[in-house]
Amino acid sequence: MVKSFMPRTLTEAVRIRKETGAVPIAGGTDLMVRYRSIAGTLPAFPWPVMFISTIDELKGVSLEQDTVVIKAGTELSVVSESPLIHQVLRDAVCQMAAPSLRNMGTLAGNICNASPAGDAVCVLYALNAEVELATEKSMRRMPLSDFITGPGVTELRSNELMTAIRIPELKSAVSFYKKVGTRKANALSKLSCTGLLYTKHNKIVDMRLALGAVAPVVVRSVELEKSVYGMSRTEFSTYENELFQLYEKLIVPIDDQRSTAEYRKSTTCSLIKEFFRIVKEELS
Ligand SMILES: Cc1cc2nc3c(=O)[nH]c(=O)nc-3n(C[C@H](O)[C@H](O)[C@H](O)COP(=O)(O)OP(=O)(O)OC[C@H]3O[C@@H](n4cnc5c(N)ncnc54)[C@H](O)[C@@H]3O)c2cc1C
Repeated sequence: MVKSFMPRTLTEAVRIRKETGAVPIAGGTDLMVRYRSIAGTLPAFPWPVMFISTIDELKGVSLEQDTVVIKAGTELSVVSESPLIHQVLRDAVCQMAAPSLRNMGTLAGNICNASPAGDAVCVLYALNAEVELATEKSMRRMPLSDFITGPGVTELRSNELMTAIRIPELKSAVSFYKKVGTRKANALSKLSCTGLLYTKHNKIVDMRLALGAVAPVVVRSVELEKSVYGMSRTEFSTYENELFQLYEKLIVPIDDQRSTAEYRKSTTCSLIKEFFRIVKEELS
């Protein structure tokens, strides 16, 4: 028999987590599916579980100075409708799963699942998101890119809960998000691409590119992004081919049930070229 808990407060939840190691279930749209048993029976979890969707302190989207704070239990549908959320994240969330699942699923679940194909994760990398993690006695924050260390592997400790996702405010004139899946709804990504661009006086001030499902973790190179800062259209056009080849080297996809490595690589390369075309247009 699976031991289950349903805490009402965050204090209670972190205490239960510390004492029992119970695994949190937010929307359950990953966990309930992964551990499902035969139809009509309850999922067969091998450890105690803790349902956290009833904790009010874990709900809501707010602005704290220059940072958008999304509490970890906020449903995807709420995220997609909040005017505080950057358009690129709203675009991505609107394409996740289907409306009924978005009423249950959360960004925290997408992150902690740590799939290289997690749609929100790719965008949150580009947005420089941080995660907030709490225990009974302490709280720490870290960049999302440090939190996810491999496919299905994170820095989450056995006594911790994710309490929020924090996104620094971003000036971005252009946002580009493309997801390639088998269908429009209820399909995990074969690959995804997030591009952000901010220009001033026809020069690049900030350019970011994140690529999902083409390596063990989301691909983003801050070093390559910095190499284009200050460039005009002519300078970017001259550098474009070299930059493309540098990105191409970072794309090391695998074959799996959703796609082939070859398709993932060639389609991602096409999307990078499409984003570069938009960058040049914006600089004209
Ligand atoms: C039909 C279907 C379609 C889908 N389509 C998509 C899609 O298009 N794109 C996509 O990216 N995903 C998709 N998914 C996967 C899933 O819906 C998402 O990953 C969703 O964001 C998971 O959120 P959740 O709250 O339901 O996670 P849960 O299943 O509740 O949890 C997932 C993991 O996160 C951990 N966790 C959750 N909250 C916390 C917390 N606060 N602190 C610590 N750990 C926590 C859990 O312990 C678990 O390990 C789909 C799933 C299904 C079933």
